[in-house]
Amino acid sequence: MSHVHGGTELYPASRIRDVAAATGAAGLAALLLTPGPDLRYVTGYDAHESERLTCLVLPADGDPILVVPRLELPKALASPAGQLNLELVGWEETDDPYAVVARRLGAAAAVGLADRMWALMVLRLRAALPGARQELASTALRDLRARKSPAEIAALREAAVAIDRVHAQVPDWLRPGRTEAEVAADIAVAIRAQGHATADFAIVASGPNGASPHHTASDRVLQRGDTVVVDIGGTMPSGYCSDCTRTYAIGAPPADVTGYYPVLRDAQEAAFAAVRPGVLAEAVDAAARDPINAAGYGEFFVHRTGHGIGLETHEEPYIVAGNEEELEPGHAFSIEPGIYPGPSGARIEDIVVCTADGCERLNQVSRELIVVPA
Ligand code: ZN
Ligand code: ZN
Ligand code: ZN
Repeated sequence: MSHVHGGTELYPASRIRDVAAATGAAGLAALLLTPGPDLRYVTGYDAHESERLTCLVLPADGDPILVVPRLELPKALASPAGQLNLELVGWEETDDPYAVVARRLGAAAAVGLADRMWALMVLRLRAALPGARQELASTALRDLRARKSPAEIAALREAAVAIDRVHAQVPDWLRPGRTEAEVAADIAVAIRAQGHATADFAIVASGPNGASPHHTASDRVLQRGDTVVVDIGGTMPSGYCSDCTRTYAIGAPPADVTGYYPVLRDAQEAAFAAVRPGVLAEAVDAAARDPINAAGYGEFFVHRTGHGIGLETHEEPYIVAGNEEELEPGHAFSIEPGIYPGPSGARIEDIVVCTADGCERLNQVSRELIVVPA
């Protein structure tokens, strides 16, 4: 089995130049990236979030610096960021790191801040750079991050294969008398055992809880005749995420579910079939919605059809009505229609990649309603 590590293919040194060019094109003097997915995308550095400032200062023109607390310099140097042609500037506990950033930027008119930067840092940077308009770094990064490279697609494929292996084990854990929380705990262990660095979420929504799309996992006891929506995901050592939903039945499924599950299957297939370059994101949402509307379940499909995925579980592009963005090769996103009429609900979710002429499905585990013997 080959593994995707955070090496130079996934986080290429050339990316800093591409991002600098995009920064200038977005009308920004620089990006200021604190720990999180934007910093990891640009440098490969998986820095932990803390009140001590770590910040990549990436000017549109000129050399970038990575401002790092001195005690974390060894960690930064050992990360992929240490392999880049990047000056690391360590600051001591009594230094003002915001002044270091401000000195580097001088009279910048506009800066792009990491979308997930803490307000603590946003406000201190505003005080340190009073002349600089603050924008989101995504104004420069969104298109780059949304169009996955072949190495990023390989990393997402590896994540999908890992979460498929977890779903293959789920029937063993769905037993009458166990609680949703007990099943979720088994799933979290398996997500890591199958190669993820972290288990990020495990929705186990049984019986009436299945009608609540973002139910997590409760002390409800599983019963014969329940359907169970299981939506799980984690982050691989590469940094890339998995996210996959299957719906299970414990014993013979209720008649209402066997009635609408084929509609849900058709909806998901229709969305897959709609994906190709040039198609609008909202057209994929409409493709999923049409069969559900036609069967009279439209009011019970209460969320968008999907979301982009990469270094974050939810990112651009969003597959939702009103998003008139054209799909491009390399866009990776979920297709996850759901029908939630109550007292049950069902969802099917796969991650797909838009290819040169269509769609690659990364998840392969069966999409049927999976009946577990009770
Ligand atoms: Zn969700
Ligand atoms: Zn999901
Ligand atoms: Zn999802």
